Amino acid sequence: MTKPATRIKAGKPDGKQWVYMFDALEAVEAYLQPKTWDEVKALLGGKGANLFEMTRLGIPVPPGFTVTTEACNAYLAHDRQFPPGQWEQETAALRRLEEKTGKRLGDPSRPLFVSCRSGARFSMPGMMDTVLNIGLNDETAKGLIALTGDPRFVYDSYRRLVQMFGAVVLGVPDEPFEDFIEKMKKNRGVRLDVELEAEDWLRITAHFKGQIKSYTGREFPQDPGEQLEMATRAVFNSWFGKRAVDYRNATGIRHDLGTAVNIQTVVFGNLGDHSGTGVAFTRNPVNGDKELYGDYLLNAQGEDVVAGIRNTLPINNLQRDLPEAYAEFIQICDKLENHFREMQDVEFTIENRRLWMLQTRDGKRTARAAIKIAVDMVQEDLIDKKQAILRVNPEQVDMLLHPQFSAAAKEQARIEGRRLVKKAVNASPGAAVGLAVFDADTAEKWGREGKPVIMVRPETKPDDVHGMIASKGILTSHGGATSHAAVVARQFGTPAVCGADILNIDVEHRIFSVQKESLIEVREGDWISIDGGTGEVFLGKLETQDPDFEREIELKTLLSWADEVRRLGVLANADYPKDAERARRLGAEGIGLCRTEHMFFEEDRLPTVQEMIMATSRGRRISALEKLRPMQRGDFEGLFRAMDGLPVIIRLLDPPLHEFLPSYDHLVQDLADLKVQIQHFHTLSEIDQALAEVRRKEDILTRVEALKEANPMLGLRGDRLSIVMPEISEMQIRAILEAAVRVKRDGVEVYPEIMIPLTSHVNELKYIRKILDTTAKAVFEEMGESVDFKYGTMIEVPRAALTADELAGEAEFFSFGTNDLTQTTFGISRDDAEAKFLIKYVEDGILPQNPFQQLDTLGVGKLIEMAITSGRRVRPDLQVGICGEHGGDPQSIAFCHQAGLNYVSCSPFRVPIARLAAAHAAIKEAT
Ligand code: PEP
Ligand code: MG
Repeated sequence: MTKPATRIKAGKPDGKQWVYMFDALEAVEAYLQPKTWDEVKALLGGKGANLFEMTRLGIPVPPGFTVTTEACNAYLAHDRQFPPGQWEQETAALRRLEEKTGKRLGDPSRPLFVSCRSGARFSMPGMMDTVLNIGLNDETAKGLIALTGDPRFVYDSYRRLVQMFGAVVLGVPDEPFEDFIEKMKKNRGVRLDVELEAEDWLRITAHFKGQIKSYTGREFPQDPGEQLEMATRAVFNSWFGKRAVDYRNATGIRHDLGTAVNIQTVVFGNLGDHSGTGVAFTRNPVNGDKELYGDYLLNAQGEDVVAGIRNTLPINNLQRDLPEAYAEFIQICDKLENHFREMQDVEFTIENRRLWMLQTRDGKRTARAAIKIAVDMVQEDLIDKKQAILRVNPEQVDMLLHPQFSAAAKEQARIEGRRLVKKAVNASPGAAVGLAVFDADTAEKWGREGKPVIMVRPETKPDDVHGMIASKGILTSHGGATSHAAVVARQFGTPAVCGADILNIDVEHRIFSVQKESLIEVREGDWISIDGGTGEVFLGKLETQDPDFEREIELKTLLSWADEVRRLGVLANADYPKDAERARRLGAEGIGLCRTEHMFFEEDRLPTVQEMIMATSRGRRISALEKLRPMQRGDFEGLFRAMDGLPVIIRLLDPPLHEFLPSYDHLVQDLADLKVQIQHFHTLSEIDQALAEVRRKEDILTRVEALKEANPMLGLRGDRLSIVMPEISEMQIRAILEAAVRVKRDGVEVYPEIMIPLTSHVNELKYIRKILDTTAKAVFEEMGESVDFKYGTMIEVPRAALTADELAGEAEFFSFGTNDLTQTTFGISRDDAEAKFLIKYVEDGILPQNPFQQLDTLGVGKLIEMAITSGRRVRPDLQVGICGEHGGDPQSIAFCHQAGLNYVSCSPFRVPIARLAAAHAAIKEAT
């Protein structure tokens, strides 16, 4: 993870406007000339910009003002001092707010209350701080009681301010506050917060104040101006809070953007049963259906809904509870969606039947929903196909292709009584299997140790995010589809089941229980399985199965649009017919790399391969190879049939031969064991057998020793094998061409391409070409029929890239083996670097990313560009592709597009991602 810089660039010079009223969007736009909506968001934060826009659209938004991100950046850059003029402008804006509302901050007879909320350019839900009800103090509390006649409401609101102020601004731990409320409820014999009386809240408020005093040594500030100033600072500071930094690291948001602060008149949702608060999505964020999706609570304020403290009501019930507000709400949701042409995530409060919109933003959604919404919006004429393509992040597609639980596995678990939860909120789809853990730190620790974990909590809070990132799944007993756990899980594509209220989760004792036929208890470290698509929870490990791509109608539609615009071809790396078939179903346009050695590792072939390697003469080697030929031919026939009509690029044997033999250490150990065993044998035949085995192992050991190299990855491998042992290549070429002729006879359209690995000198290509021509001639004569084929090379070492013009004289195509090319360009081992130093390099920012995952465009990429240019100078129709792991990485694919490659080749499951990423690259280039 990247550590943020501690200092941030300051904003533009002083004497400028740091604060804007919500109805001053024109002034913002004038300042930003020429403005784009992105720039407005960069200045006002996403939340602020949308509040301004809603105000301009005439939607009821409680009035307020925004302190810009430039002010935050100036503050953070100058030792956490407000920039000159900011506070004066903030107080002037406050005066204007007082004029607008006819109320005054701190005036008991007509008190104004404001909230102070963070809002960065990119939404970071719950990761930074918020303080509600600023302006409440002992005096205004009394004034508000006189105005509303509702002391319960007033002291509930007051304690919220004291609690939030204590936790957020003064850093007092939150748990003792919550514990005290729980204790109070127990004393009173009630279950819910709303059942507490005015005097309870008064006592709670007084207790909280005492806690602040004892923790900080100072009183809770009674001066509303001071409250506002301190809250503004706290929100600025929260930009560098741990939660926010973790979240930005996990989501790739830059650390130098800063947050705006939105100061807004408070409307009260906790004024009784004609008031309430809620959050909703304008479409279903889990499956993308066009329906309102959300929750609300009557007589509640602010964070109650997302905090999952009380179980919420589904949004449709609001029609029954407060029909007029509901009707207006529906209209506003439509208006917002049509205006932004995007699914919106809105927050609202109803104060005495009057609806107020507190926020709108583009809603976070699952991969499935993202795809469905994008496709539906094209069909509804809201966006065009290219916009739809850009709305879906290529990596999201991966999530749809994740395994699911099979119906049989679930049924079995159900019969065995292992289904713990039949239906809770299916908050984020996907199957997850892991060990139950009960807190974020353990989840993070176990996750780092490589253990799959499922985090189980009554509810999650922003502080839990580091654990959520490390978890395979999330399970909560409280909170609905819009709870913090649900929103964050969807964001990360982590399966989640929320609000499973039949579970009794005891975090302290690290156990949860559920009453089925008998009481079942699950302890920390026990296996559980959750299905985030159905809301089920199972005890134990359930088997998973591959998803059915054919049923993903919207995804297939979106990918067909992607195919219309992309320029890059997408091929697959596949070694077996079944992989090739899968790749083709997922849209592969051929095989870009068949690693023939994988076929050698098959259990029934390895002994023959070893026999070939052990052969001490060419004759013996050829006779072992002859046994392998029909097997290889069968493999290639399968691949050609699966790819009927499409190219199949087959690479000759690449790895060092010792990889096919047991390791030196193993052999030594086995021999030692055998020699000990022999001493315990009694019969002659037992001893004879054992001695024969000893001799066999000793022979292998001698061969392993002979093959031993100090740097095997730079040794006898790749095309060097073809030159030192040409009979291996002869066998493989024969198998390829015989298979091609055979399938051609069956009417298959076959396009074989033979590829040489690890070439570094053109003479290698020339040498192997001769073997190829002689073998091909012989095969075609024997079979009385020929096939066209191509001859090409991988580019995997810098010398090949640097002499690409020479290579292109021989090779009809290039394929960049960027795994090896990265290894040889950096001079770092692809097998060891990550474990030894590479992760640290990335964490410390020495390298911007792991070059084995994302192509190093400045170094390796430069070699690729040079090779393409000089290769095409010699052979203008040279076909160029990439078949290293980078071929499935969206950023690297964008580079491949720009560099003018003809195709990328990646593992079958990444083919859809590559199709979409290639389309993104083409669309972005054109705009
Ligand atoms: C490569 O090096 O990028 C490549 C595709 O070959 P392999 O991973 O098999 O060495
Ligand atoms: Mg390689």
